[in-house]
Amino acid sequence: MIQYRLYIDGTWQDASTEAYFDVTNPADGSVVGRMADGGKEEVKKAVDAASRAFPAWSRKTARERGELLARVYDGMMERKEEMARLMTQEQGKPLAEARGEVQYAADFFQWYAEEAKRIYGETIPASSPDKRIWVQHQPVGVAAAITPWNFPAAMITRKAAPALAAGCTMVVKPAEQTPLTAALLAEIMENAGIPAGVFNLVTGSRAAEIGDALLADERVRKLTFTGSTEVGKTLMRQAADTVKRLSLELGGHAPYLVFEDADLEQAAQEVLDSKFRNAGQTCVCTNRVYVHRSIKDEFTSLLTRYARELKVGNGLEEDVQIGPLIDEAALEKVDRHVRDAEAKGAKVMLGGNRIPVNGNGCFFEPTVLLDTTEQMQVEQEETFGPVLPVHAFDTEEEALELANNTRFGLAAYLYTRDLSRAVRVSEGLEYGIVGVNDGMPSTAQAPFGGMKESGLGREGGRYGIEEYLETKYISIGLK
Ligand code: ADP
Repeated sequence: MIQYRLYIDGTWQDASTEAYFDVTNPADGSVVGRMADGGKEEVKKAVDAASRAFPAWSRKTARERGELLARVYDGMMERKEEMARLMTQEQGKPLAEARGEVQYAADFFQWYAEEAKRIYGETIPASSPDKRIWVQHQPVGVAAAITPWNFPAAMITRKAAPALAAGCTMVVKPAEQTPLTAALLAEIMENAGIPAGVFNLVTGSRAAEIGDALLADERVRKLTFTGSTEVGKTLMRQAADTVKRLSLELGGHAPYLVFEDADLEQAAQEVLDSKFRNAGQTCVCTNRVYVHRSIKDEFTSLLTRYARELKVGNGLEEDVQIGPLIDEAALEKVDRHVRDAEAKGAKVMLGGNRIPVNGNGCFFEPTVLLDTTEQMQVEQEETFGPVLPVHAFDTEEEALELANNTRFGLAAYLYTRDLSRAVRVSEGLEYGIVGVNDGMPSTAQAPFGGMKESGLGREGGRYGIEEYLETKYISIGLK
């Protein structure tokens, strides 16, 4: 059985209590491994280490930091299959998707290894001949990251790669459901030669205790969080006490608008890819489909036909396309959303129920619901499961209004062959990410993040590194 300790100051350590917690496989409930159960004492040690490591790490040249980051990329490539298998076991996603995630996660190291060299400053013409104005960027200091279980590797690297590239040191707290992938990543960082204290990993089953300790520590100058809107808001309040800089990537409620001129087969395929990836458990997964009334029946029957072919099961089996949901609570939420929609008049075109595989596991059938309304939970809350609600619209204005009528604003998608409409609608969508004829926009070099209650800040691309940099204005008198 796999067992990992905490990675603090370049060494693998037990928690002071010597406690461990089990990590289980959502496909069958079996124990995948054990993880050291850290708490506030370990947070203190990790922040001590990150603070001590900061001066030397931030003074390295960008090239030196970039070379180390590039070695982390290589290390992830060497251990890609091992990491993918571990991820599927603790998180459930199909192996092909897990391999895709490891590549995506590693891409952040490759990209930011280069970007470290492009942290440019500026000179600004002064108002007097004997003054000079310089603007330069410096790392914010120790950054804390709290990450979710749905992308056990990528949600860490999307933060760690730009943070380390900028010259920050880090303390990472991964989700308690998926700490083993995080520990393997820490091992890869260690083997790549990332110096002691630069990247620290504190895992634990008591999330609030770890969070409180990180947030209360004034040496932590930045918090970057991906997770639920509810926890994000709590952390934002806590961060106020020490005025930490914040990046928050919270919930989404992605609409997919399909117009009457779309190529229906392609659009159906895109919608399904965007909906059923990770069993519907990503914050950019399509949550609601709005389709023009004139193509509603044809489009729904295509969706239903394709979705019926998806194979559900243990993600370690090569041909499985939909794995289990993360836990029983997730299954209950999905079930509640479907029952609510059914009770309020939606038609269940496909699926709609739990499916025990070999008698257990957190599996739910790929589900298509027709004629959902704004009164139903599926159109109000993030379902985070394999459920596709379909809602007809008559005009472009109505489609936009329905799409924007939510407190979330992360990702939105549209399918059309009309260029003017594509521009009009993408500009009208109150979302940080818009996919036009593209249901899978995430990539290392582009800015990922939300508007409204979906969060603050951007991850990826040159925007992502700004989150870890202070802007310093230096005024120079020449007298
Ligand atoms: P999800 O619903 O996706 O599990 P959460 O927001 O609960 O989303 O979890 C995301 C991350 O936030 C996880 O690492 C989790 O352990 C952590 N977390 C949950 N509650 C708290 C809290 N009160 N303080 C700090 N971190 C928390």
